[in-house]
Amino acid sequence: MYYKQYGNTGMKVSAVGMGTMRYNDDDITAGHLEKCADVVLYAHEKGINFFDSAPFYCQDKSEIITGMALSQLKRDSFYISSKVNLGVLNNDSSADAFRRRLETSLKRLKVDYLDFYYLWCMLDLESFRKQYDLLYKHFEQAKADGLIRHITISSHMQGNELEKVVETGLFDGMLIGYNALNYRFRQAGIAAAAARGMGIAVMNPLGGGLIPQNPETFSYLAEGTNLTVAQAAVRFVASHKEISVALVGISSKEQVDDAVKAVENLVERPAAEIYEEYEKKGIALNNLCTGCAYCDHCPVGIEIPKYMDAYNAKLLGHDMAGRIKYHWHVPISKAGECIRCGQCESLCTQHLPIMDRLEEISRLS
Ligand code: SF4
Ligand code: SF4
Repeated sequence: MYYKQYGNTGMKVSAVGMGTMRYNDDDITAGHLEKCADVVLYAHEKGINFFDSAPFYCQDKSEIITGMALSQLKRDSFYISSKVNLGVLNNDSSADAFRRRLETSLKRLKVDYLDFYYLWCMLDLESFRKQYDLLYKHFEQAKADGLIRHITISSHMQGNELEKVVETGLFDGMLIGYNALNYRFRQAGIAAAAARGMGIAVMNPLGGGLIPQNPETFSYLAEGTNLTVAQAAVRFVASHKEISVALVGISSKEQVDDAVKAVENLVERPAAEIYEEYEKKGIALNNLCTGCAYCDHCPVGIEIPKYMDAYNAKLLGHDMAGRIKYHWHVPISKAGECIRCGQCESLCTQHLPIMDRLEEISRLS
């Protein structure tokens, strides 16, 4: 395993970490949590020392499963994170509610402290400022009490907004979605965080599965390597000198092996050099929907991620109308019911022009 520094913290983290949001759903439903925990133990055996969890993942069992495994390991042989925000707290920003939630995570994960506790999923500066005002003091208290080691932030903001968060100097690290699809959006934030000595963990290195689902389109990533496109996409992220750890959502031991292979003999390169290389290839695909579903709260009931997935098909040279009708089984005409309230665009992690795309789709009917 290749290990990297997590910012200025002195921590050495595995170049790939395990995202614990993809435990096998059938095993969870059948109550075979120990089978899922085995995957964590296998990952640890293969050198992965960074595990990322959160409330609600995997039918709200992720922290429990992860804790079943971590309790069998020496505490100084791994790093574990969890997350909180106002939504998790049902908008109760009191010190008691915060502490109860943190203690639940600790109990489930079977640890005395978290290495990283995230202010979770900040979509824009406005929500960040609001939640900072209400919750940051509770993070500081928990840190003073030894329950968390590092206060960190997870965000879907674009580069220039991320820079503003970094400038506050409030966080030791950040977690961002970053991959071969969206790298243009996040450059400034990554550069600023690295310059400030923050650790950078990256989620979604496979672009919500879009990269492995379109191997021909993304074959350039694996050029000159013996890696699959999916492995090469993880390597793309991990090879950034500025990035500490690429988190991969893992369900099976085979996927652990894939993730480990992706960073075998890793060579770190400055982000600027990587950007230049890929820009020259002219294959930046920053305008694809990653299927994250953050936008999926439409007041008129449009199932936005399905339509945006179909728009991806168009961008990738496939049949958009066919995807809507025969894959998703949703009516094209529904796209025309958009009232342009703008809510979805303000939530979109990829900052896509959803309203215009829906209008274009509606014209197919
Ligand atoms: S802009 Fe249209 S699609 Fe988006 S949330 Fe509003 S009504 Fe729904
Ligand atoms: S449109 Fe944006 S928010 Fe919605 S699923 Fe796609 S990337 Fe995610």
